[in-house]
Amino acid sequence: QAKAAGKNQTHLFDVAMQIKASARTQLESELRQAITKQQLQLYFQGLHDQHGHLVGAEVLLRWFHPELGSVSPAVFIPIAEESGLIFEIGSWVIEQACQQLAQWLERAPDLQLKLSINISARQFHQDGFLPQVLRTLERFNKVRQALQFELTESILVSRVEEVVTKMNVLRNYGIAFALDDFGTGYSSLSYLKRLPLALLKIDRSFIDDILHDPNDAAIASTVIALSKALGLDVIAEGVETLAQRNALAELGCYFYQGYYFSKPLPASEFMQLHCPELAH
Ligand code: C2E
Ligand code: MG
Ligand code: MG
Ligand code: MG
Repeated sequence: QAKAAGKNQTHLFDVAMQIKASARTQLESELRQAITKQQLQLYFQGLHDQHGHLVGAEVLLRWFHPELGSVSPAVFIPIAEESGLIFEIGSWVIEQACQQLAQWLERAPDLQLKLSINISARQFHQDGFLPQVLRTLERFNKVRQALQFELTESILVSRVEEVVTKMNVLRNYGIAFALDDFGTGYSSLSYLKRLPLALLKIDRSFIDDILHDPNDAAIASTVIALSKALGLDVIAEGVETLAQRNALAELGCYFYQGYYFSKPLPASEFMQLHCPELAH
C-alpha cells in the first residue's frame, strides 16, 4: 500500500510539474509578444543621498498583461533569460531609458541624475550586446555620461576576462557599473577588484531585518567597509523605514533606495514627485 501511495504521489508530482511547465510555456509565448503589444513599461525608483536628495533612478521593468494583470519581474525576467528573450527585451529597456533621459535632459540640461539599468548576465554575455549598446549610445550621445549598468555577481561565473574587457569598453563610453544584490552571490573577492565598478548595492535581504538581526547588520557593515577599501560607493536597497536608514548611516552608508524614500513610479509620476517643475 505504501508503494501504491508512493506511486500516486509521483503521479501527482508529475502532473504538478506538467502544469507548471505549460504555464511557463504559456507565459513565455505571451512575453514574446509583450513588446509589440506595448505591454511593457519602464518604472523609475529614486536613489537618494544622506539628505534625502535625489541623485539617480533605477529603471525597473513592468509587464501589464490584459488578462494576467501585472506580472512581477521576479517571474518574467527569469523566463526572459532562459528563453533568450532577454536580449530583445533588454535592448528595448536600454533604448527606452535613453530616450526618457534624453527627454528629461532636454527640458532640464542641468539635471544631475544617474539612470541605472539592470542588465542580465545572459544579456551581457551575448555576442551582439556590445555593438548594440554602442549603436544606441551613439544615437543618444548626450545621455551616456549619466548611465549606469547594474550587473549581478552571476556575471562572474564564466568568461571573466571577457566581462572585464566589455566593461572597460563601455566605461570608456561613459557608462558606470554597479554590482547589484551584493552579498547574495558567490563572487570571489579577487574578481571584485578586477572589475571596473563604481558602486556596490547591498541586497535588500540584509536590510529587511538589519535592526534586529546582528548577522545582517554585520554583513551590511562588512560590505560597507569593503566598498570603502576598494574605493567604491555603496548604496542600500530596500530601505523601508527611517530607523533602517539611520542604522545604515551609523554604519557609514550614505546612499539609499527604498520605499521609505520613494516607490518605483512611471516616468510622469516620477517627475511629478521629484522635479514637479519639469513634469507636465
Ligand atoms: P533589483 O534590480 O534588485 O531591483 C530592486 C527591487 O527591489 C525592485 O523590485 C524594487 O521594486 C524593489 N524594492 C525597492 N525598494 C524596496 C523596498 O523598500 N521594499 C521592498 N520590499 N522592495 C523594494 P522589482 O521591480 O520587482 O524587480 C525585481 C528584480 O527584477 C530586480 O531586482 C531585477 O533583478 C529584475 N529586473 C527589473 N527590471 C529589470 C530589467 O529591466 N532588466 C533586467 N535584466 N532585470 C530587471
Ligand atoms: Mg537592480
Ligand atoms: Mg538589487
Ligand atoms: Mg534583486
